[in-house]
Order: sequence, then structure tokens, then C-alpha cells
Amino acid sequence: MNRPNNKTSIKVAEMTDIKEVSKRTYQLAYVCVGVCFVTLLLYLFYSLYLSALLVGLLLVFTLIGIWFNNRGYEKYTKPIILTTIMLFVLLLAFAEGLAAGGYLYFIPILFALPLLTESNKPYKKELIFYFIVDCSAFCCCILFCPEKSSWQHISDETYKSMFHLNTTGTLTVAIIFVYFSFYFEKKYAAALFDQIAKAENAMHTRTAFLSNMGHELRTPLNGISGIIGLLKKEELTPGQQEYLNLLKYCSDQMLGLVNDVLDFNKIEAGKLELHPIVFNVKQLLNQAVQPFYYRFEQKNVALKVQIDNSLDENIMADDLRLVQVINNLLSNALKFTESGQVKLMAETLQRDYKTIGVRFTVQDSGIGIDARYQKKIFESFGQVINENTRKQQGAGLGLTISQRLLELMGSTLEVTSEPGQGSTFFFTCAFERVSTASVPVEIEKENEYDLEGMQILVVEDNPINLMIISKLLKDWKAQINTAVNGKLGMDSLAENHAYDLILLDLQMPEMDGYEAIIEIKKLYPRIPVLAFTASLVDDLMKNELLNLGFDGYITKPFKAQELYKKIQKFCTPLPAHANP
Ligand code: ADP
Repeated sequence: MNRPNNKTSIKVAEMTDIKEVSKRTYQLAYVCVGVCFVTLLLYLFYSLYLSALLVGLLLVFTLIGIWFNNRGYEKYTKPIILTTIMLFVLLLAFAEGLAAGGYLYFIPILFALPLLTESNKPYKKELIFYFIVDCSAFCCCILFCPEKSSWQHISDETYKSMFHLNTTGTLTVAIIFVYFSFYFEKKYAAALFDQIAKAENAMHTRTAFLSNMGHELRTPLNGISGIIGLLKKEELTPGQQEYLNLLKYCSDQMLGLVNDVLDFNKIEAGKLELHPIVFNVKQLLNQAVQPFYYRFEQKNVALKVQIDNSLDENIMADDLRLVQVINNLLSNALKFTESGQVKLMAETLQRDYKTIGVRFTVQDSGIGIDARYQKKIFESFGQVINENTRKQQGAGLGLTISQRLLELMGSTLEVTSEPGQGSTFFFTCAFERVSTASVPVEIEKENEYDLEGMQILVVEDNPINLMIISKLLKDWKAQINTAVNGKLGMDSLAENHAYDLILLDLQMPEMDGYEAIIEIKKLYPRIPVLAFTASLVDDLMKNELLNLGFDGYITKPFKAQELYKKIQKFCTPLPAHANP
């Protein structure tokens, strides 16, 4: 089990006690001890023994408060000291009568309260509580205290001096408390700004680090998955095929984790965006579950899919993100179900001419989730830790990301579950309906891919990525030339500027993609250029790329189908090519 180390606990203490409330209480206690001594001497001098006894009691209780504080029970110091002071002023008012003016000390106590209240408490309940107690005690004095004490004899002369002493004392103490309240409030605001700046800085560094790491990790992963794709086309023995499947499983798993971390990073930075397109819900769901059938079969768990026929319908939404949520729910269901079945359901809840409301449900007969964990699992890194879940892998990010994605879609992920009885995850989305005519027809089979007659220049410095993309393009019958940096790419263009498309990596030595695109668009504006990048492209980066002159982008690692679709979209092969 991870225990917070000392450094962490100190930091947490600093965060919650930024106003140094316990230090302030401690200081107040010592001031109180000093004042008690002086007052005790004064009362003894005036022979006011009852008042002296009360001050003595206040002194004892204050020392008890300090003792508690020194023994590490800081939380008891403040209630003991504040209650004792208020009780003392109240009893003193009765012991001396209103004419002595002791009850006026209830006023500066009010000014001391903000100094002793933590700012992170909701509604400052504590402040309100002490405020009410103080005001009530003050009113109690006014209403019930005799003008002059019946408990001890005090001469008129002494009353006069006591009243002067107490009013001056009240005023001085009030001014001191008001001054310190402003002083510490200012100090507190400065410390708060400092902490916010530090937190923002740390967040920024982390975001930059993670996105950089993501980029670095995705580049070799592109190599691995690309080579797996190429190997799959070779003739392999059954043993080799099995190894290849394992390799693919591992690389997909790793890519999933890297993407989860990058998505989470984006969520934290508030940069996660949706990219809606038009698609058919039923088709999308049927496609999304395809890769799962084999995995469920291997585990001997039945996968049932029940999609309303009314969902054979075109809608506008972010298909990739919707699939990401479904994939995550199905993967979890598979992970936490040892026997029985998992059911994916999509049903129409409501439909009008503009929108359609769909409820998605993933129900499993797995280990279930205890009620006390059902909220926690939606928190980042939230996992149920017990002997059933310990053997399962996962970063605890999937549900957090799914929840945030659904929030962006105006929905919420919910769960009902009972340990040992299985779990049901569900959410409802309202989608915009779109007429069928606007959906492009997709080519699904890789052997139908054909780029015959197209000339493509690939500019990429990573030899493995270059080899993979060249092989794919050649398989699709495109004519290709390659260059390993922007400068050599420009040389190649100078020799032959009849290219139909350029695939341009962004980070390269000598001349990178950012410099090269400017040159290319200046000299050969009619050749479409696609950026080839391992970064996760968000709206900001996409706009930057388009502004620079790129006609689109492909992120690494890419799927063959995705690459083909992008190429096909940007240029159609022409039999007789018109040179720029
Ligand atoms: P992970 O990558 O750990 O699966 P998730 O955020 O997807 O992260 O899930 C968080 C936790 O919620 C899991 O570790 C598991 O304890 C619990 N959980 C999620 N789905 C299920 C399920 N279908 N059955 C039982 N427990 C589940």
C-alpha cells in the first residue's frame, strides 16, 4: 500500500493551513496568558478576588489549550481557547456588572474570528458558529447583567477606572485585531496566488511532458504496428501467426494506454474536443463490436448485441469517441467477467424529425462492484482493489475518460451493480439526425485499395516509418519517391514536380516539415500536402497546420484504412496529369 511520505503530508498541511490558523491560535493563547497575568495582578491590587479567580481560571484553561497544542491535538486548542475566553467575559460581566464595561470585550472577539478561521471550509460554518455564540453572549450580558455587581463589592471610584480601562482596552484590542485581519488576509491572498501560479506551472510542465512523451512513444509504436500490418500479409506458419497475434495484442494494448494517458492529459488541460461527422449508428456499433467477438470467444463468455432496427439511421456525432466509450465498457465487461454473458444494447428512447435519443447499455454477469466503490471508479485512477481485480491490468483511466467524453456529448455514464451479480453501465445521448444522402460510401476491404497512376512523395526521417508507408503505398500501386528531410524533399520536387501528393513529416533534421511546407506552397501551390505527425492533433494544432498550408494530416500510428481514406480524399488519380 502506498503511504503518503512526509513531504506530501507537509505540502497538504501547507495547502489547508495557508492562513496559518493553528499558529495564530497558538499566538493568541500566549497573548492571552500574558494579559491574564497582568489582569490578575490588577484585580489583586483592587482586591477584586472573584474577578481574580475568574482570570485565574481563564489562565488555567488557556494553559490547558496550549498543552493540547503541544501534545499534537491542535484541533482542540481553538475551541478550548475561544470558548474559555467567551465564558470568561460572560462570567466577568456578571461578577463585575455592566458598569465595569468588561462585556465590551465581546466586540473585539468578533474581529479576531476571521483570523482563526480556515478559508477552505465550506460556507465558513465555524466562523458563523462562533459569531452567533459571541453575539448571543453579548446580548445575554445586556439583557440579564445587573448594572452593578451583587457578587462582589466594587466602589464607584473603582467602577470608573475599570470602565475607562476596559473601553480603552476594547478599542485597542479591536484595532489590533482589525489590523492583523487585513494584514493576514493580504498575506493569505498573496500565498494563494503563489500556490495557484505554482500549481498552474506544474500542470503546464506535466502537460508538456506527457504530450512530448506521448509523441515519443507513438513514433516507435507506429513502427511496431506498421510492421505487424506488413507481416500479416506474408505467408506465415501457424506458430508465427500466433506470435504475431500476441505481438499485435501487446502493441494495441500499449497504444491504448499511451492514448489513454494522452487523452487524460488533454482532459486535465481542458483541451479534449469532439469532431462530429455523419455516420450510421447501427453500422458503427456492429463494426465496433467485431474485434470483440474473438476475444469473448477465447474467454468462453457470450457476447450478445441487441441494436434497435430504428437505429439504422444517420446521425451527426463523434464516431471515434462514441466507439471509444463502447470499447472501454466492453473491455471492462470482458475483463471482469469469467463466465456467463455480456450484452451490448442500443435502443431508441425518443425520436423527432431533428433528434434521436439513444440509450446504450453494457450489461455483464461478472464480479460486480460494491456500492461503496461505485462512485470511486469514475475518478481518475479509481480502481476496486480486491483479490478478484488484482489480477487484472489497467490504469484506472478508462471510465474517467469515458465519463468526460460523455459529458462533452451532454450525457452521463451511470452504473448499477451488485457484487457477484454483474454490472450494468449505461448512458443516454441525444443525436442530431442527418439525411442518408450525405453519407460517403466507404471502401472497407484492403485488397480493393488502388492508387494506380498516383505519384506520391514521402518525406520522413524515421527509417522504419518510411519503410512501412512506402511498402503500403507500393502495395496500393502508387508510384513513390522518398526523402529523409525537408531539404532533400525540396530537391526531389525540383527534379519532378508532377507529384499528386506529398506526405510530409513534421519533425525532421536539416529542414523540418514546418519550414518545408512554406517552401512547397510557395513553389508548388497546387500539390496537396498531408502532415505526417506523431502528435495528437487538437483543434488548435489542426488550425495551425491548415494555416501553414497543409491540406490535412495523418497521425502516427495510423491504420492502413485511415491512410488510404485520407489519400483518396485529397487526390484522385488522373490518367493524363496536368503539371503545375
Ligand atoms: P481500468 O483500466 O483499471 O479498467 P477503468 O476506469 O476502466 O480502469 O475502471 C476502473 C475500475 O472500475 C476497474 O479497475 C474495476 O475495478 C472497476 N470496473 C469497471 N468496469 C467494471 C465491470 N464491468 N465489472 C466490475 N468492475 C468494473
